[in-house]
Amino acid sequence: MNKYDSEIVAGILTQNGYRQVFRSEEADILLVNTCSVREHAETRALGRADNLSVYKKQHPGRQIGVLGCMVQNLGEKILAEHPAVDFVVAPDSYRHLPQILKQNLRHSRGEFSVRAFLDDSGSNELYDDVYPKRVEGISAWIAVMRGCNNFCAYCIVPYVRGRERSRPAEHVVDEVKKLVDEGFVEVTLLGQNVNSYNDGWHDFPDLLEMVAQVEGLLRVRFATSHPKDLSEKLVRTIASHPKICRHIHLPVQSGSTRILKAMNRGYTRETYLRKVDLIRRCIPDVGLTTDIIVGFPGETQEDFEATKSLVKEVEYDGAFIFKYSPRPHTPAARMKETLTEEEKIQRLQELNAIQKEISLRKNRAHIGQTAEILIEGPSKRSLKDAMGRLENNKIVILPNTKLRPGALISVRITEVRGVTLFGEQIDGKTAPKTDADEKEVPVPVTDKTPLVNEME
Ligand code: SAH
Ligand code: SF4
Repeated sequence: MNKYDSEIVAGILTQNGYRQVFRSEEADILLVNTCSVREHAETRALGRADNLSVYKKQHPGRQIGVLGCMVQNLGEKILAEHPAVDFVVAPDSYRHLPQILKQNLRHSRGEFSVRAFLDDSGSNELYDDVYPKRVEGISAWIAVMRGCNNFCAYCIVPYVRGRERSRPAEHVVDEVKKLVDEGFVEVTLLGQNVNSYNDGWHDFPDLLEMVAQVEGLLRVRFATSHPKDLSEKLVRTIASHPKICRHIHLPVQSGSTRILKAMNRGYTRETYLRKVDLIRRCIPDVGLTTDIIVGFPGETQEDFEATKSLVKEVEYDGAFIFKYSPRPHTPAARMKETLTEEEKIQRLQELNAIQKEISLRKNRAHIGQTAEILIEGPSKRSLKDAMGRLENNKIVILPNTKLRPGALISVRITEVRGVTLFGEQIDGKTAPKTDADEKEVPVPVTDKTPLVNEME
């Protein structure tokens, strides 16, 4: 979502006459987009902003701005404690950026002083009319909704991104058509809880279906699904439409019903497992991934054992596992933490090891299978190899093959090394092939993202 927001910011600034550059030393304005989901992300973002001050020393006219969720909470504090930062802008206030920059420019010429802090969080901003400036490539993100109403006990998002609001489905479809005209072949629809998307006329499965019907688009992905709102209609829509990727990211957070209740997640271990069962019955080859928090206040050894057993039972293809991090304003921050940092790290490592073994086993099960991959560009390791993704989001390397990014290719999986799958193209089954397939492919698409240099 933050990468997409950076593209929104780049869109607003480009429309106002600014030009994007790809190296910090070339920039007159340096912007750091921040995330406040975990404390670690905040510390890194501010460290990054402080490091950028070296560029300011070289050219005092340069401006440094901090954007994103952290500003909503800590804007004044950032300005007070980080002298290199000239202005801060919260996630719903990016439209003010050109004005702020103009004023700050005058300030640097000694006319007047502006150190912006804006809070439009009540504004229901959707940036519906802003066309993001995307990094050219084949795959684009589109936020279909913003905000969250769920108030999970540990989570800061509802406090920094405001209430849920959805873009009109027709606008999303129009944007997808425009993207296809520009050469994009895959879109990922984004929302904190896409399952509660509703524009007054369409729910999320309706929107998915509408997007999947856009001519020229090859694949549709989406994130994230909240388990409590995942409907049978959504599962059936994914199962019935070949363009909708068979991958569901379904964050469970904990395998213990007691902890799920304390987290205010709105489902139990059993109802979650029933949803997994429904998904697997309708979409047998689905890729399932999840998020888990270890060390939530009050998590006992028994609760942790329940999470371990759920992970083993579901056999996810992958999982993002996080240490609980207390966040200001949240109900969980007022609960007494019952685990030490070392205990949290120990649980994190234990669960990671379990998941790694499952992921490897599931990856090895692909050997000998044939499937389609969408080529994204050369592999990160070697320009001689092509990299693509299976529908379930796993990366496949095709050695010694240069294929056009955006080509949908039939492959046979031949080998698994670590977490990487290797494959070979199946002759005669390359879907739509052009002369460009034979050309040298430039730098990998994923490496070109200029706006986000570091992610947690
Ligand atoms: N809307 C998404 C999650 C967005 S935040 C959803 O509900 O699935 C991404 C992930 O960060 C969450 O799934 C959760 O696992 C993790 N997370 C959120 N708050 C956290 C906290 N306070 N400490 C540790 N991890 C957290
Ligand atoms: Fe946070 Fe829960 Fe909303 Fe996800 S659903 S953003 S975890 S409050």
